[in-house]
Amino acid sequence: MRKVRVLSVASEVYPFVKTGGLADVVGALPAALAAEGIAVRTLVPGYPGVVDALRDAETLCTFAHLHGGPARLLASAARGLDLLVLDAPHLYARPGNPYSGADGAEWPDNALRFAALATCATAIGRGIVAGYLPHVVHAHDWQAGLVVALLHYGGKPRPHTVMTVHNLAFQGVFPPHLLATIGLPPHAFGIDGVEYHGMISYLKAGLALADRITTVSPSYAAEIRAPEGGMGFDGLLRTRADALTGILNGIDETVWNPATDLHLAVRFDARRRGRRAPNKAALQARLGLAVDPHVPVFGVISRLTWQKGMDLVEAALPELQGGGAQLAVLGSGDRWLEERLAAAARDHPGRVATVIGYDEALAHLMQGGIDALLVPSRFEPCGLTQLCALRYGAIPVVARVGGLADTVIDANEMALAAGVGTGVQFAPATRENLVLAISRAVQLWRSPAAWKRLQACAMATDVGWTRPAKKYAALFRELVASGAS
Ligand code: ADP
Repeated sequence: MRKVRVLSVASEVYPFVKTGGLADVVGALPAALAAEGIAVRTLVPGYPGVVDALRDAETLCTFAHLHGGPARLLASAARGLDLLVLDAPHLYARPGNPYSGADGAEWPDNALRFAALATCATAIGRGIVAGYLPHVVHAHDWQAGLVVALLHYGGKPRPHTVMTVHNLAFQGVFPPHLLATIGLPPHAFGIDGVEYHGMISYLKAGLALADRITTVSPSYAAEIRAPEGGMGFDGLLRTRADALTGILNGIDETVWNPATDLHLAVRFDARRRGRRAPNKAALQARLGLAVDPHVPVFGVISRLTWQKGMDLVEAALPELQGGGAQLAVLGSGDRWLEERLAAAARDHPGRVATVIGYDEALAHLMQGGIDALLVPSRFEPCGLTQLCALRYGAIPVVARVGGLADTVIDANEMALAAGVGTGVQFAPATRENLVLAISRAVQLWRSPAAWKRLQACAMATDVGWTRPAKKYAALFRELVASGAS
């Protein structure tokens, strides 16, 4: 079988730069695709965390002027990835996260920062790297959306394009006067092109013009074609329904493996679930919660935002505590939610703990120590934390939306009787429904036989990349087989 070459273009890649699940997917999918005979090279911006991690990088080509300064394309094998890094210090050598500075304000030149990424990807797609021409350019989220438009308007032949939506809420919207600066012809500014309510949207560019569109769960693929979930793009996505599919994410089972996880106090697996107990005690001690095996511990590992329903968690606290449960929160995000959840911890010492920040190691210990994970998202393209929870025997309590609906089996009476339940679902995402779901989870927790069964089913769930990678591989192969684009 012919080896298919895919250039994956993204703004984040685990373990070098990560603000959310996008990085996990971009970091883990290449290895799973390699097993399917798909060779992925991953192009990312040269943020400090990426450039510093490169060893023996080779310079593949240089750009004398790339949106305000010189740049070079570096290649390096790192952590099992075939990385291509756009080293453009004038655009990427900055503190803060990939999109904003320490004050939380977005970089004013984000349009150009990600236009540079797209320009570089387009050049690679057109053969600037000697001996390398990808069959498919795979663009992830708005930061890479413009590459689809640059390839489209640049004429044929060109590589096939696939646009993957990890979150439709982030749309990369910029002023129209930038059209020529970012390399697009005047006729690109139209309803069939990159124009979006009088502005340019990099996400729209990808959605309108990619050969195929994927998103990260079948339910989200359906939701975004309806007005409530479409965030302004439902009409476009309905017209492109034939090109749109949902492929669930997996998690990296080497990174998330309770049998080998060095962040745990004690390692465990499905047969030795009893060993979760010392992790619960270690977590309680670490967070200043009362060390007590006889109360259920609910956990949150999340961006603290409205999307994630974090206000609902705070609002459900009285009932959660009334039911005798503890709450452990790890996250960062909107200032008002950070403050409220931190205040909840101050008001309820020993029963609520809040850690504001991003802490990979603590996230692992939490998955191994909490009894249940709360994910009350108002919308959720796929969600990864519930997949990690399943693997670690923490029972997910989730809103029935998007990927949460597709990955958790509600432990209703029939599911319990059939022995297939893996968590608790509720809908819609309201305070009242979350309270009811928490109380169902507590009831199940108080029935050791039912909980054991739930944990066994959860930990047996296939959350790896093998199955989803086969679907991506089939999509890429089908595109290549369809001939030149
Ligand atoms: P998102 O919408 O933020 O991408 P996902 O559930 O898809 O949500 O992915 C979130 C990823 O980020 C998961 O790997 C999760 O463990 C991780 N994560 C989120 N918040 C934190 C945090 N505060 N500390 C450590 N890891 C976090």
